[in-house]
Amino acid sequence: AGIINFCANNYLGLSSHPEVIRAAVEALEKFGAGLSSVRFICGTQSIHKDLEEKIARFHQREDAILYASCFDANAGIFEALLTPEDAVLSDELNHASIIDGIRLCKANKYRYKHMDMQDLEAKLKEAQQKHRLRLVATDGAFSMDGDIAPLREICQLAQKYDALVFIDECHATGFLGPNGRGTDELLGVMDKVTIINSTLGKALGGAAGGYTTGPKPLIDLLRQRSRPYLFSNSLPPAVVGCASKALDLLMESNAIAQSMAAKTQRFRSKMTAAGFTISGKDHPICPVMLGDARLASVMAEDMLDRGIYVIGFSYPVVPKGKARIRVQISAVHSDEDIDRCVQAFIEVGRKHGALS
Ligand code: PLP
Repeated sequence: AGIINFCANNYLGLSSHPEVIRAAVEALEKFGAGLSSVRFICGTQSIHKDLEEKIARFHQREDAILYASCFDANAGIFEALLTPEDAVLSDELNHASIIDGIRLCKANKYRYKHMDMQDLEAKLKEAQQKHRLRLVATDGAFSMDGDIAPLREICQLAQKYDALVFIDECHATGFLGPNGRGTDELLGVMDKVTIINSTLGKALGGAAGGYTTGPKPLIDLLRQRSRPYLFSNSLPPAVVGCASKALDLLMESNAIAQSMAAKTQRFRSKMTAAGFTISGKDHPICPVMLGDARLASVMAEDMLDRGIYVIGFSYPVVPKGKARIRVQISAVHSDEDIDRCVQAFIEVGRKHGALS
């Protein structure tokens, strides 16, 4: 019956959508394989500008700037924006690329406990007395645990202590919120989050590319100063073409974005009823918590024998004793696919004593 992939970030199934593939082929034929240049020399075509405009419109922001990846967008923003007089306050479980981006900047660094608003407030208070500008940086959705940042509370604190808010929306863009705009839409704070970084390499076609979207002066600054933008090649036309079509599809209707929620719910509720512990809440990242690293690894192997492709995660990717199999639900999974996955987990869980 073939193998079903339950570990890709292809949240909306758009990487195999016929219109997305056609758009990539058309862009390839019309605009060539690549630009052999960074953006500011001869690496900008009309499609790059159109995609930046479309991204800004999708997120209801003033402007956007493309990068080769979201890793690059995160590597480029903090150093360009913050000086030694400023401060950045970062969730301790933020993605590696945010951590690296922050390492590159000369601002004062505060690390607050994961989603702990008391700790964030204490650090904001201290930072307000000492530094000129404060930036709170958090993943919108955390990919290891499938949990969602408390953005309402973060934005309230940011307002109270006169700070800006930055979110990384790689695991939210395209499918969280009523229209798939992301965590800020889901939590009703689209007008309070200042800067969004996200990827074109997950829900938005799955090829590659990343971006920053936010106020125009910030984007102008990044075009002048952001090193991964200035010194790395322009996105290839085929990649631009498929991301642009993915955004068109999402802006035409919210049906694709909405098709995720029921499937996520089906998997989470059936697995919980079977006796498994699923971390996070209402997110298509569904970590099946197992604790033991070997158990996670052998169960994942046995799942593959049953036609379900999942991967065990253990230390150092996750904390010691918190090994898990991370299941990722996609809009292209049918109800039957999801039920087949749950059934395989039940059989394999019983075999290895993870279920009684
Ligand atoms: N930020 C987060 C939260 C991610 O999960 C990832 C990808 O794994 C990235 C950034 C990097 O994205 P990209 O693959 O576009 O470099």
